Amino acid sequence: MINTDSSLKNPNPEIIFRSQRETSREWRNSSYEERVSRLKKIRNWIKDNQQAIREALKNDFRKPEAETDLSEIFPVTAEINHSIKNLKKWMKPKSVSTPLPMLGTSSKTYVEPKGTSLIISPWNYPFNLTIGPLISALSAGCTAVIKPSEMTPHTSELVSKMISELFEPSEVAVVLGEVEVSTELLKLPFDHIFFTGSPAVGKIVMKAATENLSSVTLELGGKSPVILAEDADCKDAAEKIVWGKYVNCGQTCIAPDYILVHDSLQETLILELKVALQKMYDPDYTGIEKSPDLARIINDKHFERLIGTIEDALSKGTEIAFGGKYNPETRYIDPTLLTKVDDEMQVMQEEIFGPILPILSYSTLEEAIEYVNSKPKPLALYYFGKNQENTSKVLKETSSGNTVLNDCVIHFLHLELPFGGVNNSGIGKAHGYHGFLAFSNEKGVLKQRVGLNNATLLRPPYGIKAKQIIASLIKWF
Ligand code: NAD
Repeated sequence: MINTDSSLKNPNPEIIFRSQRETSREWRNSSYEERVSRLKKIRNWIKDNQQAIREALKNDFRKPEAETDLSEIFPVTAEINHSIKNLKKWMKPKSVSTPLPMLGTSSKTYVEPKGTSLIISPWNYPFNLTIGPLISALSAGCTAVIKPSEMTPHTSELVSKMISELFEPSEVAVVLGEVEVSTELLKLPFDHIFFTGSPAVGKIVMKAATENLSSVTLELGGKSPVILAEDADCKDAAEKIVWGKYVNCGQTCIAPDYILVHDSLQETLILELKVALQKMYDPDYTGIEKSPDLARIINDKHFERLIGTIEDALSKGTEIAFGGKYNPETRYIDPTLLTKVDDEMQVMQEEIFGPILPILSYSTLEEAIEYVNSKPKPLALYYFGKNQENTSKVLKETSSGNTVLNDCVIHFLHLELPFGGVNNSGIGKAHGYHGFLAFSNEKGVLKQRVGLNNATLLRPPYGIKAKQIIASLIKWF
């Protein structure tokens, strides 16, 4: 069904919200089949419109087609397929065992949809990070109002078109706009808010959510470190780091933000990083700027921020080991490797979110761990090294949303793993079952089975018997 209502361009958020409230009551008991049919509509639309999605992303920041297919379309279709395969199991009430003091009862956990949800998404993976959470919301049986980013107008318009073709506004609706629109939406008493964006805006979202005690999932960002141990395979690590860093031109929440490399490997690593960059982005030696496989910086504001970061580091003594050139007209910045960096530089204070990669060295693993722990807990931590004891030490002594050993970034595609941050890098988890749970209320249901109510002995007036029973409960359970 194609919805051509022109009021959809600028729908009234409050009217949409109220209509979704009603729908969400109907959807509370929607069957597996009904939920799957909603997911399949999206999958079919994506299949029919793959080229339009690629073009929108290209128009927004010259994202290479292959990267759009891999990092915008595939994660969404995989999320849909994973949900369809598992949803029946996820929706089933689960029996729990009965502890001895609860003898005579039986209990189950039911999952029910939270109801009406709000999804606010960022610009950096504008299709994936808008539709991915929607798949979780629809799987859970929720309705959704979506506020995509204003910084990717082509993709956000396309998402709006897609949703208006597939759903009634009372089911799923897109509201386009900037901060003011988000602010208005955040005043409404949504049952769940799923926000992906910066920690600074995450705090604003959480504060707004407290007014209505809406639950939140906050998928945020931060500085995700790579630790390269003394026994790491430098060539292998360099190739993986270069891909993980430069996909989307470094504008990835889980991109390696900086590298901590063991003293003894620094030179080799830099050499291998240069070789990998050359191989992936300039195989014909015509210059990386000519590569069709490197996206551009999203807008002038971010371009100037990144150039400012390089200039600040240069003024404080950094050295450029690779790259450093840029072109404001096309918002191109060389993949840039920086050495001799320190905490006084902006590049080590803020999430970089661009093609700049600082490299710091350390002499003991304790030192590297201490450095990571001196900063807010990252969204991802990457460790390259072979020694099992050192690997366990890093796992035990650091905290991060996700940790990847001997690779980077690919965990995003693993739908059995919870994806998300911790404290400053996020609250709550996404993907697969974890995404489904984010939009669900787990309701504990206890049934008194035998009618024999032992608890009567525990009611006032509390006599000696009640006191004896309570004492034995404390002693034995
Ligand atoms: P952002 O926080 O600036 O914006 C995200 C969304 O919030 C946009 O839709 C925007 O319109 C809205 N917004 C902006 N200011 C607002 C305000 N004051 N009140 C209410 N809403 C507001 O983030 P961004 O620049 O679009 O994205 C980059 C950030 O997102 C980075 O920090 C990155 O690490 C993070 N990110 C995290 C994940 C993840 O899965 N954890 C994924 C992608 C990006």
